[in-house]
Amino acid sequence: MVLDPPLAHPLVGRLAVIGVGLIGSSILRAAAARKLAGTLVAYDGAEAVRARTLELGLADIVAQTPADAVADADIIILCVPVGAMATVAEAIAPYVKPGAIVSDVGSVKGAVLSALRAHLPTSVHVIPGHPVAGTEYSGPDAGFATLFQNRWSILTPPEGADEGAVARLAELWTAMGANVETMTPEHHDLVLAITSHVPHLIAYNIVGTAADLEEVTQSEVIKFSAGGFRDFTRIAASDPTMWRDVFLNNREAVIEVLGRFTEDLIALQRAIRWEQGETLFDLFTRTRAIRRSIIEIGQETAAPDFGRERE
Ligand code: NAP
Repeated sequence: MVLDPPLAHPLVGRLAVIGVGLIGSSILRAAAARKLAGTLVAYDGAEAVRARTLELGLADIVAQTPADAVADADIIILCVPVGAMATVAEAIAPYVKPGAIVSDVGSVKGAVLSALRAHLPTSVHVIPGHPVAGTEYSGPDAGFATLFQNRWSILTPPEGADEGAVARLAELWTAMGANVETMTPEHHDLVLAITSHVPHLIAYNIVGTAADLEEVTQSEVIKFSAGGFRDFTRIAASDPTMWRDVFLNNREAVIEVLGRFTEDLIALQRAIRWEQGETLFDLFTRTRAIRRSIIEIGQETAAPDFGRERE
């Protein structure tokens, strides 16, 4: 996968990224590779991360305080865990210039919009966002410039948001390779509960169950993992802070979807108990079609075993 060539003129004067982890460092890398900003500024709460950001040359300026990071920035993107958004918004609020866009990349949108609006002045355009792209790795070394290529980035502007500001932010994501869609924060949270949050919970749960099984040893679980378990372990290796915050901040939608999931699981349990093979076969046929459509729209590879290389 390759990025388009650098732009002749940057889209943004000064772009500030707060939180230089997987997502923040990927934004910095993509923006640098395509020359999307006149000046790239980065800030992270952890001193070690700031030092690493400097070492990797990810930004023109590595700020030492949130105030310095956002001073005179045109677009500010908060790339911290969802539970830290309010703290960061409060810290930067007095220093954001009027007319600037403040966005984020958090995996939950309703709670983040409330947190940002509670702290930021009305002279600032608050336009939350969520790139639906990631890996199970964290930190500034984990990012890469093509992370957002051909992935969706969802913007959830509040009612009455400035259309020009939304368009500028959308343009930035498009220039980083993403396809942009706009929806309400509530709808985002329900869609992501079913496509991302509950699947992660299921993975965390099944890996936890396997780890606690007494009749099957840990070494057997690891040895025979290619039977399906291994693919759950990739998801269940995702960052604990990030995912704790996702579940605490998207409680309603996750509980709603989990209720539906539990009912369907009980129906499957019944089908197995009463040997209703046709019920099982019909469901497994329908689910196969869903995977085929994900491959058809280019969101997954059709290569066997998820394209893993054979030894
Ligand atoms: P990450 O790799 O753990 O990076 C987050 C960075 O933010 C860390 O360096 C962290 O420092 C720093 N940070 C935490 N609190 C801070 C604060 N108050 N002020 C300044 N910096 C602070 O996380 P990530 O995977 O990039 O995720 C960042 C956001 O993107 C999350 O909101 C997540 O929901 C969202 N997201 C993640 C993915 C994914 O697949 N990972 C995909 C889409 C969206 P410490 O390590 O010292 O805490």
